[in-house]
Parts: sequence; structure tokens; C-alpha cells
Amino acid sequence: MNQNRPDLHDVIIIGGSYSGLSAALALGRARRSVLIVDANEPCNARVPHSHNLLTHDGEAPQELRAQAIADVSKYPTVYFHKGRVTEVSGSDGAFAVRTAEGIAHTGRKLLLAMGVRDELPAITGLAECWGISAAACPFCHGYEVRDQRIALIGNTPDTFEYVNLVHNWSQQLSVLTNGPAMFTEEQRSNLSGNGIGIVEHTISEVLHDKGQVKSLRLSDGSQLAADALFLRSRTPLPSALPASIGIELTEQGLIKVDFMQHTNVPGVFASGDCASPMRALSMAIASGNIAGAVIVHELIHA
Ligand SMILES: Cc1cc2nc3c(=O)[nH]c(=O)nc-3n(C[C@H](O)[C@H](O)[C@H](O)COP(=O)(O)OP(=O)(O)OC[C@H]3O[C@@H](n4cnc5c(N)ncnc54)[C@H](O)[C@@H]3O)c2cc1C
Repeated sequence: MNQNRPDLHDVIIIGGSYSGLSAALALGRARRSVLIVDANEPCNARVPHSHNLLTHDGEAPQELRAQAIADVSKYPTVYFHKGRVTEVSGSDGAFAVRTAEGIAHTGRKLLLAMGVRDELPAITGLAECWGISAAACPFCHGYEVRDQRIALIGNTPDTFEYVNLVHNWSQQLSVLTNGPAMFTEEQRSNLSGNGIGIVEHTISEVLHDKGQVKSLRLSDGSQLAADALFLRSRTPLPSALPASIGIELTEQGLIKVDFMQHTNVPGVFASGDCASPMRALSMAIASGNIAGAVIVHELIHA
């Protein structure tokens, strides 16, 4: 890594996880100066093994991340700053970011690769299980618990579709609505026809051993044994930085981008989970790489 940092970087990337690093790889290989500012809090930090990423299926996220940093660090125009960006200002050609410690950096373009924050229902024990025996995506974590006892927590308009999806991996499936269920009569009869129990009692606690769920204690005092939990967390952006520079959001509250990862603000791009509901390493890596390449084109033609 080169220590002679330029005053004005070609690009500043906020978030140096899978998506930000993938963008930096394209930019570094294009000999562009890139500063990656990263607070080092990737959403999958507690997950023992990641799945569904070709050539790395089953690898620990820490290993993936270490390899990604090693790949990017080979290029002398890539710089790292460990920290959290708390302020963004400027416009295309001259953006400024400031970190929590008050350090300022400037760049011609800005890439937001800041991920999302997982907000879980306030159920005792659930947060400890998140990433270990509780997850959202059955494509990532369904195979490992195939045919086991799965408890799915959810009670939103999309829960019916989600239950049917997870049922693909195990028929030992119960849906816990943590209160009166929103299902229609038709949905209820479809679920019971598939042998899927609906539990409407409030969940008092998730009982677990070091994050491995054992059972759920319910408000009537009973316990439901489970080997795995599935639930869709709420996923707000991790900060108001995008809003502070006028970035338009989608109905879901994610950053709105076109197929080249442009936001509505000239010179500002976004990639990975903060700009897509398709949360997966492959998607974060792909969109970051696209953003990197598009930024190079725009720098050349500026
Ligand atoms: C429990 C769980 C299990 C998962 N398992 C799998 C799996 O098995 N397979 C799979 O394909 N996908 C899996 N995923 C999804 C995958 O982890 C994400 O899609 C991927 O991490 C998204 O990458 P990203 O770079 O967009 O965001 P993240 O990896 O979340 O990284 C965002 C980075 O930005 C940083 N950041 C945020 N704000 C700032 C700021 N203001 N300043 C500086 N830095 C900032 C954060 O600290 C973090 O380092 C899982 C997700 C979860 C939550």
C-alpha cells in the first residue's frame, strides 16, 4: 500500500465490506486513487459460515473479508481509513467527508456501500441467536437445517409467501406470529393443509445455548422446541448520511439506483445492501464491481 495519499482522491468509498471492496478492486486495477472509510461492522459479522457464494461456499465471513482486503491492498492507489463517516458535503468533482474523529477527506466521486442495519423484534434471546441459528435468507442458511424443526417469526403481508419459501427446506415448520395472525382464511387453510402450524401466542423468550436456539417460551407458559429460526429483520439504512445530501430512497427505504448504480445525485453511486433488497454476498460484490467500473468511465470522460 502506498502511504503518499493524494489530497483529492478520485473516489471515496463509505463502507469497506464486500461491496465497497469489490468496487475498490475495479478502481485500484484501473489505477485510480480510492479511499475506503470503513467502520468495520459488516452485517454478517456473527455468522460462522457463509453460503451460496460460488468458489467460497461455506467459508467463514472473516476469511472472506481478510482475503478481500488482501486482494485490494495489492494495488498502490487504494488507501484505507478505519473509522465512521459522520458528515458528507460537496458536489460532483469535489466531495468532502468527515469522520467521527473529525478527520476530513476529499474525493471527486462518492460511493455509498454502507450496508443496512438489522432491526429485530424485541424478544429476549433473539439478538444472541441472530447470525448463529437465526437468519433471514433460506438460500444462505436453509440447506444446513434441512428437515429440522424450524420456527419462522413473522406477521406482515409477505409472511405467507415467506413461510411457503422456507417450507421448501423443511416440512417441520411452524409460523409464530407473536400476536393475532394477519393471515386470511384461505391462507390459514393452505398452511394447515401443508402441515404448517400457526402459533399466535406472544413469544416471551428465545431459549438458546451460545446463540443456538433450543426452544421458544410462549406467553401461555408452553415451549416450542426449535433447531433454527427464520425471520426477516427490518433493514433501515445505518445512518442519515444519504438523506443529508439529497439522495432519493426507494419505498423500502433503500438508496434508489439505476442499473449502473447511479443515485439521483450526480457523482454519487451506491451499491450492496444499502441499494438493493437482494441481500447476498454475490449481489453486493457484483453491484460494487459495476459501480467501480462505471465510476472509472465517468472519471475518464469528465
Ligand atoms: C445474519 C446474516 C447472514 C447472512 N448470510 C449470508 C450468506 O450465508 N450468504 C450470502 O450470500 N449472504 C449472506 N448474508 C448477506 C450478506 O452478508 C450481505 O448481503 C453483505 O454483507 C452486504 O455487503 P455490503 O458490503 O453491502 O454491506 P456490509 O457487509 O453490511 O458492510 C457495510 C460496511 O459499511 C460500514 N459502514 C456503514 N456506515 C458507515 C459509515 N458511516 N462510515 C464508515 N463505514 C460505514 C459498516 O461498518 C460495514 O463494514 C447474510 C446477512 C446476515 C445479516
